[in-house]
Amino acid sequence: MTQAGIVGLAVAVVLLGLAALASAAQASLARMTLPTAMKLAADGRRGGDALVALMEHPARTASRIALLGLASQATGVALVTWVLLGLLQPLPAVALAAVAATVVLYVGAEVAPKTVALQRTEQVALAIGPLVAALARPLGPLASALIVVGNWVAPGRGLEAGPFVTEEQLRAMIDAAESEEVIESSERQMIHSIFELGDTVVREIMVPRPDMVTVSVEDSLSDVLDVVWTAGHSRIPVYKNDRDEIVGLLYAKDVLRRLHLGGHEDGPWEDLLRPAHFVPELKPVDDLLRELQTQRVHLAVVVDEYGATAGLVTIEDVLEEIVGEIEDEYDQEESLVEDLADDRWRVDARLPVDELAELVAADLPDAEWDTVGGLLFGLLGHVAVPGEQVAIDGVRLTAERVKGRRIAKVLVERVHAATDVEEEGR
Ligand code: ADP
Repeated sequence: MTQAGIVGLAVAVVLLGLAALASAAQASLARMTLPTAMKLAADGRRGGDALVALMEHPARTASRIALLGLASQATGVALVTWVLLGLLQPLPAVALAAVAATVVLYVGAEVAPKTVALQRTEQVALAIGPLVAALARPLGPLASALIVVGNWVAPGRGLEAGPFVTEEQLRAMIDAAESEEVIESSERQMIHSIFELGDTVVREIMVPRPDMVTVSVEDSLSDVLDVVWTAGHSRIPVYKNDRDEIVGLLYAKDVLRRLHLGGHEDGPWEDLLRPAHFVPELKPVDDLLRELQTQRVHLAVVVDEYGATAGLVTIEDVLEEIVGEIEDEYDQEESLVEDLADDRWRVDARLPVDELAELVAADLPDAEWDTVGGLLFGLLGHVAVPGEQVAIDGVRLTAERVKGRRIAKVLVERVHAATDVEEEGR
């Protein structure tokens, strides 16, 4: 072998090392997150800062590492082929180069580095971070130029534009993690609920105005105590004139303290009022949670677009969206659905439409109406009279109990397609 051939092989070995580095970087960075990288950097781990810099631009990093890996592999194979051409006939030289390169690259630049990287994600990421950052930087302009060419060949959002992962992909990963028993079913459900928080608005989870427990500023402290006692809620909105004019909140603890310290049941109590917090009914629930947290309020009064009181919402209502129903010692336990067998149910009109749709496996419109009562009211087009019915997507809804203008209980029946045909045939 000539001296040039020996140098060529040595360079090919170095390139194999670079290809292995790129593979290890791909595997370890795919498992790394920016917060983890920041924590490692904050802990003073060596290589932490370089890792953060890489993780801050995941798409850019990925395209540069891919280029590093591919360029090393392609150049290495070309060099080995060139060296073998000096030793053998062209055909055997090319064939040997192809076979040898496939085996060596597969083992040395794919399987081995990726296995190590997956087993020791953090150590590998920290160890190779600075080197990868240094090598990837000069490749930046070339990678960007090649992406332009790539976009020309295959238009559309590519590597640089992101997003790196979509919500659907994340959700699919979570489902996969559950089926592989990496996470539990309850954890999967909770994570999905968190994604849905941003698509849910306050109006869908609030306690509606008719169910709000409130007191008037005119009420005596003993009346207030009665209300607190019967309802079992610790925060009561207080209104002047009517419920559209909420002037503050009264805390049960403040009432207790006042009475304990000798306050009179007929004495003034307006000084106990605390400021109320108001939120619009179309606010997304994830924003609401953040707002309640930062403002340190537990209960917010919900107002509609005209400023009228629509209901109230507490942190517990938001948490229930994530973890399911929470019942404390004072919550009156009542089920919104009573199964009457034979595909019949008696449901509380406050039951959300999507929950009814799930229960009866029907396609019910839930964009305009949040509750079953609202759906029935909307479909009827007028204030319901007990016994009035509507049918929608194979489901019959009957207003069973009506209180004033408000539907209270709805009888739900699944009307079988066969029955429909029979009725029509008669
Ligand atoms: P509490 O323990 O005072 O009842 P939570 O924040 O634990 O308050 O809320 C429990 C449930 O009671 C939630 O669904 C909440 O919306 C509702 N709730 C709280 N206060 C009132 C109130 N004054 N009127 C009607 N419902 C209320």
